[in-house]
Amino acid sequence: MNLPAVALRGLCVLPKMAINFDVSRDRSKEAVQYAMLHGQKIFLVTQKSDKVEVPEEKDIYTVGVIADIKQMVKLPGGQMRVLAVGRTVARIMSMDTSGAYIDVEVEELETGIPEDTDEVTKEAMLRILKDELMKFLQSNQEISKEVSRALAKVGDIEELMEVTPIHMPFTLEEKQNILETLDFSERYALVVQLVTRENEVRRIRNELQAKVRSKVEKNQKDYVLREQMKVIREELGEDAQSDADMLAEKIEELSADDSVKEHLRKELSRFRMMSGAAAEAAVQRNYLDTMLSLPWNEGTEDRNDLKEAQKVLDRDHYGLEKVKERVLEYLAVRSVTGKGDAPILCLAGPPGTGKTSIAKSIAEALNKKYVRICLGGVRDEAEIRGHRRTYIGSMPGRLVAALTQAGVNNPVMLLDEIDKLGSDYKGDPSSALLEVLDGEQNSQFRDHYVEIPVDLSNVLFIATANDVNTIPDPLRDRLEIIEVNSYTENEKLHIATDFLIDKQMKKNGLKDGSLSISTGALKKIIHHYTREAGVRSLERKIGDICRKAVKEQLDKGRKVTRVTEQNLEKYLGREKLFFDPVNEKDEIGVVRGLAWTPYGGDTLEIEALLMPGNGKVQLTGQMGDVMKESAQLALSYARTLSEQFDLSEEFFEQHDIHLHIPEGAVPKDGPSAGITMTTAIVSAIGQKKVKANLAMTGEVTLTGRVLMIGGLKEKLLAAKMAGITNVLVPDKNKPDVDEMSAEITKGMNICYVSSMEQVLDAALVQ
Ligand code: ADP
Repeated sequence: MNLPAVALRGLCVLPKMAINFDVSRDRSKEAVQYAMLHGQKIFLVTQKSDKVEVPEEKDIYTVGVIADIKQMVKLPGGQMRVLAVGRTVARIMSMDTSGAYIDVEVEELETGIPEDTDEVTKEAMLRILKDELMKFLQSNQEISKEVSRALAKVGDIEELMEVTPIHMPFTLEEKQNILETLDFSERYALVVQLVTRENEVRRIRNELQAKVRSKVEKNQKDYVLREQMKVIREELGEDAQSDADMLAEKIEELSADDSVKEHLRKELSRFRMMSGAAAEAAVQRNYLDTMLSLPWNEGTEDRNDLKEAQKVLDRDHYGLEKVKERVLEYLAVRSVTGKGDAPILCLAGPPGTGKTSIAKSIAEALNKKYVRICLGGVRDEAEIRGHRRTYIGSMPGRLVAALTQAGVNNPVMLLDEIDKLGSDYKGDPSSALLEVLDGEQNSQFRDHYVEIPVDLSNVLFIATANDVNTIPDPLRDRLEIIEVNSYTENEKLHIATDFLIDKQMKKNGLKDGSLSISTGALKKIIHHYTREAGVRSLERKIGDICRKAVKEQLDKGRKVTRVTEQNLEKYLGREKLFFDPVNEKDEIGVVRGLAWTPYGGDTLEIEALLMPGNGKVQLTGQMGDVMKESAQLALSYARTLSEQFDLSEEFFEQHDIHLHIPEGAVPKDGPSAGITMTTAIVSAIGQKKVKANLAMTGEVTLTGRVLMIGGLKEKLLAAKMAGITNVLVPDKNKPDVDEMSAEITKGMNICYVSSMEQVLDAALVQ
């Protein structure tokens, strides 16, 4: 059969399908016109690609549909609108594209169901396809009710096979495939498969959509609720929402681990729930602010340069050779082993000897930030660990506060006066500190206020103490103690000229060269205006002079102020005498002892008096327990000497002895006054005078042996200050004296003693 053909773009016509299409290409228009005149039959075939304007044989499929044109309308602009209905499937046998229209020779194809198919099979095929189709129609609102109803009524498999592809959203290729599959059962399988697949795709798509929708809806709902809350708050004149938003931004910007941020987000959402004016909102707000200002992951870059460290330590401190050496050793070990394992450095010594300032220099040398926590008088564990976040005034502990102040997680943290930690019923702060100083535990330090663990493992802790003996034992275990000793007068002089004067001049706004303090004046200040182991008062006195000088220069228009030994009184007032000078004459029962205190050395006079009585012993003058025992010991020893002094057997029963240490305001304890007390008592009972220009220190045993004592440097300095030149020292302490600088021992007559006999020999006037 020869027919005019129209190549369709993007359309595939199937039998029974009514289709409306516009024709614009000339050859197609010609074909339609020819068909209208010759029986209205036309061959409709699909073009493989939309893009081809003038299709040749290769550009079109070979199987198409013979269709009846039902209507043709000419549209303005030369186009034609055609309504056609597909009839039978046909294949192109030959094709002529040379004429005004495409002329094809086609052969009709047989596509019906084989004659011999039995009814049951037909029925089964019908039901299967219909089920799938119904499923599709139910889940698909796009297809109108009438179509659904009409499809539901179809009772013949052949008809259903024809109408199904018309209503299904199959692609062009799929439709063409159906068209070309001539065998009925094969075509049936294809159609069922396509419909089933379509159903599956729809099901999955619906599920996904539902998920997305519920998520979007929740966000939408939250958003609307938040906006509403904002409006309500605004109406109430509260402005917490914008606050919360600001906090939310800060949380996201915070450089911290995700776990921290997650915790903060939760806390923020709690804050959002609270009404802005409520007290608990203020607590919560405070909490968030505190947490945000903690340096979670902020840190400074360390400098591990020991040469630089040495330079900084030397630049800021005179002398202290041993201390510097040990600090450098400590830093060297630390740089090799890394953080954590190293013990904590503890600088121990009297006040004003530069402990704090060494710590500062260490921080500077390592390029670390420096913060100081003063532990003096801390009794409550909460001061270390913070208060739980239950009331308005609750705060984090001092460690966390110091960390916040430093702004980095790896500062040098000075634990000042660790020996003055107290403890009472509110808990033991030293146990909290123990955790802080333990390299294994402090990466997870728990502050009650902060709640989540804070990492302290990067912090370099340095402690200071005046008296190592009062540091709680477990704490002392963790510390590497470096002793910082008292300064000699000469050292003080150097420190003053090299450091303190410049420092104070700068502090008080004095220009270079506008103040000079003579060496003589400085010596006088050191000796007569201050009494200390360190240089703190000295620095203060120099500060006083600076202020006077500034005033003088402003008042009198002077350019330079010179302070000398002679005019010093004008600046500092009358000199004071701090030390008991040497006793003027030898006396019975009066002996000078030497004592060590956390604040430096001191001399103390011990007096013994014998009087008629009945064998009582009286001790006065704030003696500690150990000292009272020493007094008993001294008495027992003295009794053994009754023969030597020709005393009657009843002597001790007929006399009372009174032992006293004047200047009772300073509590004194320790065993080192042993030989002093014994000498005083022996002098009293034997009525022998004790040499005036003499001081002594040493522990004594019951049998009169002399044992070694500590703090000798401080004691000798104190003796020197008091102008005493003869000193009795236990011979076991000789190595200590050998180590001392010549400045201390110069002009001193040090006599080493090992027994009480030697002491008495040296002390009593024969
Ligand atoms: P501490 O912490 O031991 O009580 P500080 O470190 O506060 O003492 O020292 C008090 C003052 O004395 C500081 O101004 C310090 O710089 C100064 N100072 C102490 N020792 C020295 C020293 N060896 N060289 C220079 N200045 C010193």
